[in-house]
Amino acid sequence: MSSITLSHVKRAYNGVLAVDDVSLVAPEAKVLAMLGPSGSGKSTIMRLIAGLEPLAHGEIRIGDERISTAAHTLPTEQRRIGMVFQDYSLFPHLNAGANVAFGLDKLGRAERDALALQWLDRVGLKHRAQAFPHELSGGEQQRVALARALAPDPHLLMLDEPLGALDHTLRVSLIHELRRILHGSGKPAIYVTHDREEAFAIADRLAVLHEGHIMQTGAPELLFKKPVNAWLASFLGLGNLIKSMSAPPNTAAVTFGCFTFAESINLPEKSACALLFRPKDLLINAQPLGAVNTFDAKVIDSVFMGDYWQVNLRVQGLDLEAHSGQSHPAGTSVTVTIPPEKI
Ligand code: ADP
Repeated sequence: MSSITLSHVKRAYNGVLAVDDVSLVAPEAKVLAMLGPSGSGKSTIMRLIAGLEPLAHGEIRIGDERISTAAHTLPTEQRRIGMVFQDYSLFPHLNAGANVAFGLDKLGRAERDALALQWLDRVGLKHRAQAFPHELSGGEQQRVALARALAPDPHLLMLDEPLGALDHTLRVSLIHELRRILHGSGKPAIYVTHDREEAFAIADRLAVLHEGHIMQTGAPELLFKKPVNAWLASFLGLGNLIKSMSAPPNTAAVTFGCFTFAESINLPEKSACALLFRPKDLLINAQPLGAVNTFDAKVIDSVFMGDYWQVNLRVQGLDLEAHSGQSHPAGTSVTVTIPPEKI
């Protein structure tokens, strides 16, 4: 088993860097999710790892072996990388078993069929070995594609928006199964998506890309709790983000007042900064006006979301979102409180 490592990788098109100094590690038996908006460089990184394009700078290694440098690109077919794409790419004229057996051409017939069946079993589809792609649901086809990618014992698995063609319900049920299969395979996997829920659900490590740069890499919980900058917080949909001016040791000024934090901030006086707090941590009518971090607000509307009400509020021209256990009528005046330890 081996990990895959990208070190200071660059790739430009027509003089413009699409991938700019990217360093990443996909560790053994772990899933690295690459998340980023369209155009952030995800597909380019996949093509570089697959050896479909040369890189301009840096190197890519599988274990200790250099597979791409600026001077040398190991051919794709020698990299032993299993790929799964959004459109399944199964051969329509072959049944599920034959699709999985396809890449096992170095083995004898009996051995090949047995291994294909073994992999179909691991993705829960042994009983569908005789079925043709058009007889399988989208989710089943994608599991066959996964079995086909894993059967030749690749060094690495790459999945490019594998659930992109499926509806939401199926995606949610399949993501946990995919995670189980990928972990069970013992291979490093790189999972590309623009869907943050999917990325959080599948990732052991998460790398977020923006304009060819890695914004942050780490455990999903780390990125969720401590996003490195305002762009990332906003991209991850982490909640209310407001511009402020630091007033050390533990306060910051915003247009409508001053926020107090539980911890000291490590910034010089009057630095521009952004405050982040989650909708569930914004409390409505919990404190009287004048209590710490308590402000006057107007309810714009309340939207029922199932587990909670999303209450949209305006505090002196600034829109904030709260998640509340109850509805608040539009137009009502309320107080909102953000506990210092939640900012
Ligand atoms: P993503 O997969 O995150 O949507 P891409 O890797 O496809 O992003 O693209 C990253 C950037 O590189 C984009 O600005 C895109 O327009 C550019 N790009 C990608 N492929 C090519 C190409 N073959 N020729 C020119 N520009 C490209």
